[in-house]
Amino acid sequence: VSRTPYTGRFAPSPTGPLHFGSLLAATASYLEARRHGGRWLLRIDDIDPPREAAGARDEIPRTLEAFGFEWDGPIILQSTHLDRYQAALEQLLAGGLAYPCACTRREVRAVAREGVDGPIYPGTCRNGMPPGREGRAIRLSTHEAQIEFKDDYQGPIAVDLEAQMGDFVIRRADGLFAYHLAAAVDDGDGEISHVVRGIDLLYSAPRQIHLMHCLGLTPPCYAHLPVILNREGQKLSKQTGATGLDTGQAPALLFHALRTLGQAIPEPLQGATLEEIWAWALEHWDSEPLQGRDVIGEVPAVG
Ligand code: GLU
Repeated sequence: VSRTPYTGRFAPSPTGPLHFGSLLAATASYLEARRHGGRWLLRIDDIDPPREAAGARDEIPRTLEAFGFEWDGPIILQSTHLDRYQAALEQLLAGGLAYPCACTRREVRAVAREGVDGPIYPGTCRNGMPPGREGRAIRLSTHEAQIEFKDDYQGPIAVDLEAQMGDFVIRRADGLFAYHLAAAVDDGDGEISHVVRGIDLLYSAPRQIHLMHCLGLTPPCYAHLPVILNREGQKLSKQTGATGLDTGQAPALLFHALRTLGQAIPEPLQGATLEEIWAWALEHWDSEPLQGRDVIGEVPAVG
C-alpha cells in the first residue's frame, strides 16, 4: 500500500553544509516527487544540538534555493516537535513496547554480535534492568518483528529485526530523542508517501517501519540511492571528505549530479543555466539507472 497523493521530503541534519551526496539525495527525491506530480517538503532534522553546526540550519535552505529547489509549504523544524516525540515515547512505554535500558555503549559492545547495521543489542534489559542499575536510554522492543518491504531502487528487503539488529534506542542516554523516533513520527504525521535518500540509511528503514507500526502510523515507500564513490574510490560521506557545495558552481554541480544519478543529460547542457538544466531533468527524469545497482557514478572534479 502506498499513500496518495505523492508527498516526498528531503530531511538534512544541520551538522554541516550540504555536500555533493546531499545534492544527489535532494535532486533524486525532488525529481521523483515532481515527476509524480507530487509535493516535496523540506525538513531540517535539528534534534541533536551537540552535533549541530553553527549557521547550518539557515544555510541549508539558502543553498537549496541557490540550486533552484522549490519546496512546498514552510520549512519543517524537528526541534518544534519535541512534545509530539515525547507523546510517542510515552505511548510506546505505556504499551510495553519500549523499556529503559541501563547498558552503557561499552557493555553492549562487549556482548553484542555485529549485525547488518551495527552491534545487535542482545536484549539485556528488555525484561527489567539488573538490580541496582538505572535507566539510561530507552529502547524499542523488536520482539518477533519481521519487516519486509520493496525498496524502489534496492529491491526486496526482508529483515528479522530482533535477530539482525536488535532492540534499538529511541531516546538516547543524553536525554535526546533518537533519529529513528523523530523520523518515523514526522514521516507518519506528515503523510509522507515516498522517502528517497542515501543508501547509508537503508537499514534505518526497517527500524522506522517497525516504529510506525507500533505507533499506528502508515509507513511510506522507500528508495535508497546506490553507493556513490568519492574521487579516491571510497564511499562518499562527510567522513571521506565530502566538502560543502559551492553555490557559485550550481549549474555545473547540478549537471554532474544528474550524470552521477545515471541520467543521460546531453553534453551541451554542461554550460547551461539552472533553469535549462531543471527543465531537462523535470522532463526526462528516469529512475531506471538507479534500480538494482550497488554502485553508481563518482563525484565529479568540479566544485
Ligand atoms: N537527517 C538524516 C540525515 O541527514 C536523514 C533523514 C532521512 O532522510 O530519513 O542523515
